[in-house]
Parts: sequence; C-alpha cells; structure tokens
Amino acid sequence: MKIDLACGSGGRESQALIKDIFVKHFNNTVLARLEDAAVVEMPAGRVALTTDSFVVTPLFFPGGDIGKIAVCGTVNDLLMVGARPLYLTAGFIIEEGADTEDLERIARSMADAATEAGVQIVAGDTKVIEGRGEIYINTAGIGAVTETKISIANCLPGNALIVSGNLGEHQAALVSARMGITNTIKSDCAPLREMVARLLAEGIEVRALRDITRGGLATVLNELAEASGCALSITEASLPVTDEVEGLCGILGLDPLYMANEGKLLAVVPEAQAARSLELMRGSKYGEHAAIIGRAEAGSGVMLTTRLGGRRLIDALTGEGLPRIC
Ligand code: MG
Repeated sequence: MKIDLACGSGGRESQALIKDIFVKHFNNTVLARLEDAAVVEMPAGRVALTTDSFVVTPLFFPGGDIGKIAVCGTVNDLLMVGARPLYLTAGFIIEEGADTEDLERIARSMADAATEAGVQIVAGDTKVIEGRGEIYINTAGIGAVTETKISIANCLPGNALIVSGNLGEHQAALVSARMGITNTIKSDCAPLREMVARLLAEGIEVRALRDITRGGLATVLNELAEASGCALSITEASLPVTDEVEGLCGILGLDPLYMANEGKLLAVVPEAQAARSLELMRGSKYGEHAAIIGRAEAGSGVMLTTRLGGRRLIDALTGEGLPRIC
C-alpha cells in the first residue's frame, strides 16, 4: 500500500500505520501503551543522551538499510562515552507515496538491530509530508553511564590507537550501489555493544572511544588530537582495508582514510594493555580485522608514515565528501 497524507493526519489512518507497523515490530509494553511519553526505569547516576537523523540514499543497500543505521548509529554513539544503551525513540518523516512494505521492512530491521544492541524503542513519531516517497528517520537514545573516564579529551601520550576493522566499507557499499557498480562490498553497519562491553569487563582502562562515521578515520583522529592536545602518529601499512575497497577507491580517486564506516570504532588504550585489547576486539563479533595503527605522542596534529617511509600530515575531511550516506 502507498502511504498518503491521511496516514500522517493523526486520525484513524495514522493509528493503523503506527499499530500495524511500529508497535507490532518494536514490540514492547512501554510503546504499546501509546501514552504521550514513555515512562521507563533508569539506574541511578549519570545518563548519556544523543540524537541523530538519517537521510540515506538508497534506503536499502548491501549490508543494511536506513532502519539498521538509525538504530546502530545512536547505540554506538552512546557506547562511545561509556554508557550502556537502554532506550531509543524513533521519529519518521515519510514522504507520501512511500510504500508500507518498505516501511515495514525498515521497522523489522530496526527491531532486529535493537534486539541485538539490547535496547528498546519506546517512543516514536510519524509525520507524512508531500514529496516523492522518501523516508527519513531520527533516533534519540538514552543510556546509563557506567564508565566515567572515557572521553576523547582523555587520550594521553604513549596511548595505543586501535581500529576495530576494515575502513570505508559503508561508504564504499553506498557508492557502489548508487553508481551501479557490481561487487561484493557490504556496509559494515553494526551495533558495537559486545565489543565495548568486552573491553570494559576485562578491565581495559579505555581512555577514549569514537565510532568512525562520516569523515572517516582521518576526521576522527583529528578530533581526538584536538580534544586531547596530543599528536597522533599512525602507519599506512597497519591500516586495515580490504583489496576490494582499496580497488574501488583507486578507480574513483577516493581515500579510505576519509571513507565512512557504520560499525567500526577507534579505541585509545594504555600501551601496556594494547595487545590484550587487540585480542579482545578481534574476538568480538565485528572486530576480527582489528589492528593497532599507531600511538599518541606529545605535540599536535595527525602524522601518517607512508609505506615508502615518508611522513604526511593528515587533515580532517573538508567539504562535502559524499552526501546522504547515513
Ligand atoms: Mg559518533
């Protein structure tokens, strides 16, 4: 069925859309009450809050869809500040002409991602606007802060930098899908809860975490260097990139350092715990290609040692990159 403006009227059609798709798939008693606000249990102490809007094209792509990203992106942001993600809200802006089957597929995928990430989607909003059948999603998330020392300001000289896996896979999958390039590249879109929980449970004194999304690793490293007042030194040979992504980048003139992921993180840990941290990350569900890529030093800026032994300053992404990839 095509969604029309009546589905966003707040009347009977809206009710049907909400009940038949969102309440059904998100499947929890808090949302099912359909009250004006969700009332949830929270552990005492600090909470982390975040929000993000998702405008990806196409809505469905190899390795995921807009719904999966909308859940994983918000869950991962909560994890990066040492919070245990608990509850999400989901706001949908749907252009008339969108298909209920697509919406249901997206809702199902959000429900699956939420289950894997251990969160509940407890409140939502649906608006239908004039347009050409596009769907946009905003999610907000709340989590209980269990670890108060994790901050991008807390990176210290001597700390090791570990990347949790192959770079650029989300953006490479999106670029391929949009350009009609046939390959086996899939978006790496994933919730990283297990990986972070494992590091903390094993007593790793994690200094900083950042998920590698728009702007790629280069941008994340620059943000880390700036916030912590450290220089970061990385080696090109240690960067994990698949041959297929490397090949695509070569053809299109893209640099994996600036390509977005949706299921990778940069972890900053004490040097003495680097080997153990790497082992734990490699043993995690989405971390088998994790790699130590460099270290923090006194100074400023991000320096890459190339395969040929040259040294190159790495800047953050400037300009647009690629629009509507997340
Ligand atoms: Mg983030």
